[in-house]
Amino acid sequence: MPRTRRRTVPLPSSFLDFFEHVCYNVHMNELLTRTICIKLDVTGHEAALQETQHRFNEAASWIATLCWEERITNTNTAHHRVYGETRSLFGLGAQLAICARTKAMEAVKAVRIQEAEKLARWRKANAHKKSKEKKPLPPPEPASCPHFRPHSSIRYDARTYRLLSLDRVSLNTIDGRIIARLLPGLRQHEMLEDPDWKIGGAELVWRNGTYFLHVTQSKDVPNVTPAEDAIGVDLGICNVATDSTGEQFTGAEVREKRSRFVARRAALQRVGTKSAKRRLKQMSGQERRYMRDVNHRIAKTLVQKAVVSRKALALEDLTGIRESVTVRREHRYERHSWAFFQLRLFLMYKAAWAGVEVRLVDPAYTSATCSRCGYCASMNRQSQASFLCQQCGFCCHADYNAAVNISLVACQAANSSSGTSPATSPLASAGGS
Ligand SMILES: [Zn+2]
Repeated sequence: MPRTRRRTVPLPSSFLDFFEHVCYNVHMNELLTRTICIKLDVTGHEAALQETQHRFNEAASWIATLCWEERITNTNTAHHRVYGETRSLFGLGAQLAICARTKAMEAVKAVRIQEAEKLARWRKANAHKKSKEKKPLPPPEPASCPHFRPHSSIRYDARTYRLLSLDRVSLNTIDGRIIARLLPGLRQHEMLEDPDWKIGGAELVWRNGTYFLHVTQSKDVPNVTPAEDAIGVDLGICNVATDSTGEQFTGAEVREKRSRFVARRAALQRVGTKSAKRRLKQMSGQERRYMRDVNHRIAKTLVQKAVVSRKALALEDLTGIRESVTVRREHRYERHSWAFFQLRLFLMYKAAWAGVEVRLVDPAYTSATCSRCGYCASMNRQSQASFLCQQCGFCCHADYNAAVNISLVACQAANSSSGTSPATSPLASAGGS
């Protein structure tokens, strides 16, 4: 599976657990990818698969440790260093040995990138503290080398697995090739057969005694329709989403449902019995499916609106938001929850899919600046919900005001970069305050 994607949205690690049936991804201006998770019938081959899985992950852990300690980052160097030993020590075939190396190197690289980002944020935060003559922060804990559990997934590439007719799949194991049966649903079957999508690598995942094949597909991103204007979208604090045309996806129902989930979860966690734990697991599934559905619908509506009005979509650029923005305690759950990031992801994905341009804007001052006169002050923000300009008296919903600002900044940025006359946006004068 190609992992050279540029990260555009910071994903909480728990997000990765939310594979349902399909998981979508956008590599901006490059490729659309999606992963279809299909149940597998491996009757008769359990032992071979399990043994392969154990050895594959042992090998991947060994490779990761070695590359970590010797600070190897180059794929070629890694290959020459570990290939022979991977085969002789763990008894993997040539192709599986290569897949284990790919998996290990990707994990090492991801941890290194995370570590570097953490350090950069720490330096930035410390510089800020220093300028205000506050006590410096302790340096972040050094990252540790990734390790794979014996039941972790097996990576397959075009040479180690093949989809066959009649929903069968041939998989490479240490006992040679085996043929397993895929058990796709109707929709998954259609997606697999869709000629528009190219089939890429796959991941064999074991979960609670069942094997799943996560098949990756990819497709070129359609050309982006050029747009002058942008619809600004404010996500997440008071309402699930508010756009600059004034439409609100209030999330009242969502909030009520979610707070019920939160309360019930807390109660069950206090109980702590076996059946309570089972119930908790069921509930997490319900909440997840519910939010996923809500997010899909909102994203669809917003993208549709952009298509019809031939506009771009503008969102706040939230890279690193978890460290840099203070969010009130009662809203923290929303800002940091996977559901919030999921909506952004769906929006990006559906927009790319429909050829709608997505512009990311700096979130600074979007909520404190008046979208009518440009006066910027924290006093403007009366509460989470209401905005009242201290200068011109403009009064509206705070999220709507933010959405209009986002759209203004996006248009301004687009105009100044394309060399046309710079728009006079209120935010232009508000920058420094
Ligand atoms: Zn004003």
